[in-house]
Amino acid sequence: MQRDEQIFELIEAERERQTDGIELIASENFVSDQVMEATGSVLTNKYAEGYPGKRYYGGCEIVDEVERVAIERAKSLFGAAYANVQPHSGSQANTAVFHACLKPGDTILGFDLAHGGHLTHGSPVNFSGRLYRPTFYGVKKDTGYIDYDMLSDVAEKEKPKLIIAGASAYSRDMDFAKFREVADNVGAVLLADISHPSGLIAKGILNDPMPHCHVVTTTTHKTLRGPRGGMIMMGENIDNPFGITLKSGKLRKMSGLLDSGVFPGNQGGPLEHVIAAKAIAFGEALTDEFLHYMLQVKKNADAMAKAFVAKDYHLISGGTDNHMMLIDLRNKNVTGKDAEEALVKADITVNKNMVPFDTESPFVTSGIRVGTPAITTRGLRENDMAYVVDLIDEVITNYENETVLKGVAEKVNTLMSGRPLFVA
Ligand code: PLP
Repeated sequence: MQRDEQIFELIEAERERQTDGIELIASENFVSDQVMEATGSVLTNKYAEGYPGKRYYGGCEIVDEVERVAIERAKSLFGAAYANVQPHSGSQANTAVFHACLKPGDTILGFDLAHGGHLTHGSPVNFSGRLYRPTFYGVKKDTGYIDYDMLSDVAEKEKPKLIIAGASAYSRDMDFAKFREVADNVGAVLLADISHPSGLIAKGILNDPMPHCHVVTTTTHKTLRGPRGGMIMMGENIDNPFGITLKSGKLRKMSGLLDSGVFPGNQGGPLEHVIAAKAIAFGEALTDEFLHYMLQVKKNADAMAKAFVAKDYHLISGGTDNHMMLIDLRNKNVTGKDAEEALVKADITVNKNMVPFDTESPFVTSGIRVGTPAITTRGLRENDMAYVVDLIDEVITNYENETVLKGVAEKVNTLMSGRPLFVA
């Protein structure tokens, strides 16, 4: 068969785009060669509906072993008692938990998307807001930190069956013990969605949800630096603490409910090539090198936040505890959309983002979200951050000046030249 040049040329163009630019999308990263190799391996050929030892297809002995290794490594990485590594994405991990714990129409309480939450935490345009009754908590206007009083008040009033602690654009650590207190007061299941900070949590740099939350979901491709995918976990002491009953009236173990929430509830055949890549990424994340990487991600984010503040950028909450920051651009007289577009022309990639109490629509927004996982993987260190912020500032203050944008792109390409995608 002829090589499909049309697509391979596009892949090559994307490789060049990634290599030449500064990648600041907080949810992106660059995987190691071995993670990439497993993702493109023959395991993509295999059907394996079911779970290790209980499949609906023959010939699964080898992928069973792959999946078992992925599960065991995930458990030791997070100190979990249970892990399901099959969700194709973070959204599907959350969908499976909702299937396992809720009935359509049940009330859920999530972090407002406009304040930093995720679509799957109750947005009306997502299954979570369409099939369930969403209610929300947010951040305090004056501090930008989660308003735990509001969380507690809304929980008391709305009596949710499920509370979600997690965010896509929140730069501070989360108080999972406080979330649990609120959940216990109203008898809710507590789900921690650690998709963004999971790498930092795995290495003990941020608060650990495992002792407090009934269920924990994560993506595997953000700070965790694995292939695109999702995962569900539970801690040691949290097996069915809330007495979910099935139609038959028989109590089943929560792990069984979660497994069937994934398959057959929400997915068919697992992506065993991706599960192999997850296993490799978890193996990498178990090492001390990964601890150093995560510490550097945080150091870089902190240095970047300070450099932005020094240039009079308004960071929501004033700084960061993790790998990202959310910047309100209203005092710079540029929208998130215009800033994102101008930065792309200068080979710097960020995403426009709503800021709390935004006055613009989600398609325009007043802010940008910036994160350091990807540039840290490419070898940039804290002393590089002020320069990166200088480049961003040059773009933002001249966002309509094509000559300036071109000049910044050249500086960006010089900074990134000679750096492979994955350094360490
Ligand atoms: N949960 C959170 C908190 C996220 O930030 C994301 C992705 O951005 C997801 C879930 C969904 O992950 P995916 O894009 O893999 O569906």
